[in-house]
Amino acid sequence: MTHSDPSKIPPTLSNTPLDLSDIRKNISQLDSELLGLLFERRKLSQQVAENKKNTDKQLRDQSREKQLLESLLTKASKKGLDSHYITSIYNLIIEDSVKLQKDFLQVLNNPSPSENINKIQDITSSSTVAILGGLGSYSYVAAKRFFSNSLSDPKLSFNTIDCDSFEAIIENVEQENASFGVIPIENTTSGGITAVYDLLLSSKLSIIGEQKQAIKHCLVSINGCDIESITQIAAHPEAALQCSKTLRKKTAAQISQVESTTHAIQKVLTSQSTKLAAIASEEAAHAFGLNILLKDIADQSENTTRFLVLSKNAVEVSSAVKSKVSIVLSTNQQPGALADILTLFKNANIPLTKLESRPIPNKPWQQIFYVDFEANISDQHVLHCVESLSKSCVFYRLLGCYPAQDSAITQVSVKSLAEAKLTRLAKNIIDDSESKPQATKQTKLKENSKAQSSYRLASRNYKKENTQIVVNNHIIGGDQFTTIAGPCAVESAEQIDLCAKHAHESGVSILRGGCFKPRTSPYSFQGLGFDGLELLVQAGKQHKLPIITEVLNPLDVKKMAKHSDILQIGTRNMQNFALLTAVGQVNCPVMLKRGLMSTLEELLQAAEYILKQGNQQVFLCERGIRTFETATRNTLDLSAIPVLKEMTHLPIFVDPSHAVGRRELVAPMAKAAKAAGADGIMIEFHPDPSRALSDGRQSLDFIALTKLMGELYLD
Ligand code: PEP
Ligand code: MN
Repeated sequence: MTHSDPSKIPPTLSNTPLDLSDIRKNISQLDSELLGLLFERRKLSQQVAENKKNTDKQLRDQSREKQLLESLLTKASKKGLDSHYITSIYNLIIEDSVKLQKDFLQVLNNPSPSENINKIQDITSSSTVAILGGLGSYSYVAAKRFFSNSLSDPKLSFNTIDCDSFEAIIENVEQENASFGVIPIENTTSGGITAVYDLLLSSKLSIIGEQKQAIKHCLVSINGCDIESITQIAAHPEAALQCSKTLRKKTAAQISQVESTTHAIQKVLTSQSTKLAAIASEEAAHAFGLNILLKDIADQSENTTRFLVLSKNAVEVSSAVKSKVSIVLSTNQQPGALADILTLFKNANIPLTKLESRPIPNKPWQQIFYVDFEANISDQHVLHCVESLSKSCVFYRLLGCYPAQDSAITQVSVKSLAEAKLTRLAKNIIDDSESKPQATKQTKLKENSKAQSSYRLASRNYKKENTQIVVNNHIIGGDQFTTIAGPCAVESAEQIDLCAKHAHESGVSILRGGCFKPRTSPYSFQGLGFDGLELLVQAGKQHKLPIITEVLNPLDVKKMAKHSDILQIGTRNMQNFALLTAVGQVNCPVMLKRGLMSTLEELLQAAEYILKQGNQQVFLCERGIRTFETATRNTLDLSAIPVLKEMTHLPIFVDPSHAVGRRELVAPMAKAAKAAGADGIMIEFHPDPSRALSDGRQSLDFIALTKLMGELYLD
């Protein structure tokens, strides 16, 4: 970027303008200071772990992390620093600090029997790790991350034994050629790796750790090759499975299966053919100087593999560290045998994290179960629970107790995001010293004794408690008021990205954007369709916001449910029964908007169509109805909120934008909706409302949205 306007040149550190090389010198100086500070920070983190080692305090303290992030956000906003930028950096710093402390406690808990050197230091100094493939394989990246222990001497090398099968990994550890083995056990797209489950059963190794590794597959080749010239793709079968749909769309090339990603790369390198590509990571492409033809080719955007770390000797886990236990068991063939076992866990209040079944070799139709649960085997009640399994099982074996990789990211509250954004805008100083009393959201509910048979499942009589719907990390219908916001329609990559960034920074929880637009006139902008959805998905991912978009066609429901976190049924389709039935058959939350001319009873009957199919994740949205009044686009029926709260357990939202049709009326109605007990609102906003391709008149601009968020969450 060039700066033709001298007033736009960033300020320098001194008063006299510096030349470019001096500016760069200053930047390098600051960067090395930052590194020094990060180093000092890690030393302090280690002291925290030392401090906690003899107490019963849990190592991870997410409320302290939240406080830290929120106070940093306040300070950052005063310096004009973006909240997304600051939270992303600090989430990484916190993750590193938690790993450092966990490793430190693991080392203390597991001193080596000889010479008083601990195991984990031992790993990086003299021991080797057996992995699938070698440099550039996903196992290599996972192993390196697991063993990149902060306490070890960075000069010591990380050695691997590169294996070409899962069996070879196990054998190398069993025969003590390697001290540890790293083996993939499950993937979020392709599921459990059955061959590894079967090997765990026959081996005597213990699980001593886990490593979750995000897998970002790329299609790679030698230079001078393009996607059209490829006729063959070398890939590990799991990688091929995870990318099959995307690849089918982009190329007709045949898959040729190889033992590991490293083999796939070797094949490309030795052939030097422009007809051959491989599926591999970006890191591998860089390590071997290969060209990346396509990035992010996995069918699911969240593609993570969980690896297990195996060793001949079991480890003990400090009680300050969150841990997991893995066992394998089989039951007799009596009815209810598995239920009895699960009840043992329930009664001991031990949460199960995984239950996987595999057929028992040579015993047709008999199953063996792999169970993971969050617990520490050194706790008496856990040990007792595991021991009592023997009464209900015909076989069981402990596979290991190990530190759980805690990947929970601490979220800051909507309130502090809204506050930080407002400070940055520095337009309106908001006094939040005294919170105004708010209307009690869950008003005492009067029971409707005559259950409405026409909307049985939706009725309050059928279910007394309020329904809560989990969308990624967010709960709709819980204690927090939810704001959904975004443009009426996705118009371009830049527009939706700007909106997503601004929404996230202002404390909005869910990003909206229409891709298929139900327009009254066929000549109006109809939306970008699936291309728009791709842009919305990308923007949501980039700015860590779940997304909602409207579906118009029953035939599109399955595909859209795969990509969107929530599906919206618009006002014009409230009684499109084929569409309601279709969204009832997918496992995806649905926002059902009230029809322009529909009664509340009809709205609940429409919801019943969805619930009856099995999908219970439905919430309703009042968006204004047709009356004789023309001063506003529609008439917002605020009384629908408390009335619906009596009639149904489903969460109730309000869309003031479509109700009033004029941006100046949106904020008062949004606040009124909250005061009347709504669970959330949906608001339209746009970077430049005057140029919006639809509903610009009712769209807020960025400043108005931030201001409204402040009023909703700070007052
Ligand atoms: C919308 O929210 O994009 C929309 C079209 O709203 P409604 O269905 O309420 O008109
Ligand atoms: Mn609209």
